[in-house]
Amino acid sequence: MSVRVVFLGPPGAGKGTQARELAREWGVPQIATGDMLREAVARKTPLGLEAKRHMDAGALVPDDVVIGLVAERLTQADATPGFVLDGFPRTVAQAEALDRMLAERRTPLERVIFFDVSRPELLRRLTGRRVCRSCGTGYHVVSAPPQSAGRCDKCGGELYQREDDAEGPVAKRLDVYETQTAPLLDYYRDRGLLFPVPGEGSVAEVAAAIRRAVKTVPA
Ligand SMILES: [Zn+2]
Repeated sequence: MSVRVVFLGPPGAGKGTQARELAREWGVPQIATGDMLREAVARKTPLGLEAKRHMDAGALVPDDVVIGLVAERLTQADATPGFVLDGFPRTVAQAEALDRMLAERRTPLERVIFFDVSRPELLRRLTGRRVCRSCGTGYHVVSAPPQSAGRCDKCGGELYQREDDAEGPVAKRLDVYETQTAPLLDYYRDRGLLFPVPGEGSVAEVAAAIRRAVKTVPA
């Protein structure tokens, strides 16, 4: 069985968790471009050094660098049966490049799973994060609360909200994501590849919805 899918969704939609679990279940690699970029930078590969130059300058990593990383990754043996792409493509240019890569291999993309989560729910999830000031352990006021409010279970340290997790910056991040992704949703919708799944249920419910969407792929 082959599985060639893209997981698309806003920050806080739970995409990474599902990508990790389902990729393992399907026997294909989870290709997470964020992790790959960090790894390439750490290993100081040519693309990694190029990416670092842009990140150090506070700029976005250009499309051709990210595309190069994905192209390299897709030629590795474990990606022969397929992949779950997580965090890529981010732009229409990246989506077009992916289509070209896959067309050359005669292995077109099968599905784009879109994690549909309402904005208030995303805000609730993303602003609920708390971190221990002493040991760095992460909590969430709703989904992973500490035993005693405001205190770390492990060391008793004080929990705080990172500046990035405050409502203002989170709302801004979601705006940027929506602006950037809207054309991408149209691109895949026009090609009949876009499958929205409700992303607000439990991890198991969301996984089941994704399985149903992916299983309808004709052999
Ligand atoms: Zn702690």
